[in-house]
This record gives sequence, structure tokens and C-alpha cells, in this order.
Amino acid sequence: MAALSAAHGTRDRVTPRASRFRIAGPNETDRHGTFPDCQRNANEEGEWLEITSEIWQVGGAGFTSPEDAAVYLIRCAGRAAVVDAGCGGHSDRLAANIRSCGVTPGQVEYLLLTHCHFDHTGGAQALAAEFGCPVVIHEQDAAALINGDSQRTAAHWYGRSMQPLQPDVMISDRTHPLPLGDRVVTAIHLPGHTPGSVVFQVPSDGLQVLFGQDVHGPLHADFGSDALAYRRSLTQMADLKADILCEGHYGIIEGAEQVRTFIRSFL
Ligand SMILES: [Zn+2]
Repeated sequence: MAALSAAHGTRDRVTPRASRFRIAGPNETDRHGTFPDCQRNANEEGEWLEITSEIWQVGGAGFTSPEDAAVYLIRCAGRAAVVDAGCGGHSDRLAANIRSCGVTPGQVEYLLLTHCHFDHTGGAQALAAEFGCPVVIHEQDAAALINGDSQRTAAHWYGRSMQPLQPDVMISDRTHPLPLGDRVVTAIHLPGHTPGSVVFQVPSDGLQVLFGQDVHGPLHADFGSDALAYRRSLTQMADLKADILCEGHYGIIEGAEQVRTFIRSFL
């Protein structure tokens, strides 16, 4: 696919391409990914990486904190959704990055959580309060948040405690449509890494963009992981035929074949 170019106009800082993708996961390698020629930009308020003209990375390593999983922002026809929230140690920075993309609190329809893990949800409380948006998670991962379960959320892996959080919307269907402006974001339950892991898919700029935040796992008894379900989910995820995969720790993978190859490499 042709290079994904910036459409934000003049910015005062542009990070060289070689350093755009910072890997925070335990397997710190780009062996799987073919990364797009995205443009990372900044203004006086914050930093972001443009993925399509409607989708940005606004949090994660290199944006907020190395311990944060990637945080993505979607804006369609003036309505916005945030995918995951990081650990919460740099919530002010994350909020500033979201605002720097031109998104105001009244525009945010959802905070979409891919699963309960702390590096994706520790900042959910603060982000939802800042933007006044409902927190969405699959019902099978909801209890870990409601109970502040530091084992299921892996908060103790980060030397932290999970603060109890009551989600506003609990997905229970295999697929669940979430209207967003002139678009629909589709939540798809793909368990394995955790029981309530979901991916979100949305069309943008004529491409299918998939938010699959911990495609790579890992699997662990603390998480309630299910190896068989994980393998089945990877196969189903590969069959979604996404053109761009926005991952939690591996960056952004571009191209339908590259996305499929990346996903299937974990089978
Ligand atoms: Zn995880």
C-alpha cells in the first residue's frame, strides 16, 4: 500500500522514521511487522502518530510511557473513541495527546478496552473521567476490573494494585456493533489471551483497520488464558482480512498479507 501520509499540516517536530515504532513487549523485535510509513507529529499540546486520516496512536512507548500498551484514537464524523488507556501513570500526557488530535471531551463516545490487563486499563478511570465517556469491555473480563483483581489484570506484574473500576458497557455477544459518527466499530470476541479479549475493527480511508492489542499473547494461568481458544481466535483474526493491524506492543502492521502473516506467526 502506498505510504500513509500526514494530513495535519505543519508541526514543529517530526520524529525520524527509524524511531517511530517503539516496542514495549517482552519480545522486542520487529521480526513480524512491516510497518507503514506513518507520520509521527507533535504540536505544543501533544504527540501523535497518524495511521489513517481518522486514526492515530496517542499512547504507549514513545508517547506516554514504556510500560503502557499502545493507545489508539478513532474519530469519524466528529465522534471519537479511544482504544485502551495505558497504565495510568501518564494520564495527563495521554489526554493532551488526544486533545492535540483535535478531539474534545464532548466528542468521545467510548473508551474501548480490548481486555482487562493493567497496561491497557490502569489509566481507564482517569481517561473516562477526563473525557466523560463510558468504559466498554467484554463481560468475561469485566469482573477483574470491578473487583480490582491485581492478578487477573496483571497489575502485580507492574508492582501495582488494580483499582476497582465499574465498566459502563459490558459486551456479551460474539460480535457487537458500536456506532461511531458515520461508521460502526465492530467488537469481536476473540478469547484466549484472556477470557474476555476482544478486537475492534473499523473501516477508514477505504481500509479495514483492526485493533488487536495482544495478538502475541502471552498465555498465563494468572490471566485465565486458554491455549486452544487462543489458537482458534488467531485463525479467526487472520480471516478478518484487515489491511492494517494496530497492535498493543508490536506497533502497526500494514498490508493485508503482512497482517495475516503476523497474526499466523503466533499459531
Ligand atoms: Zn494482555
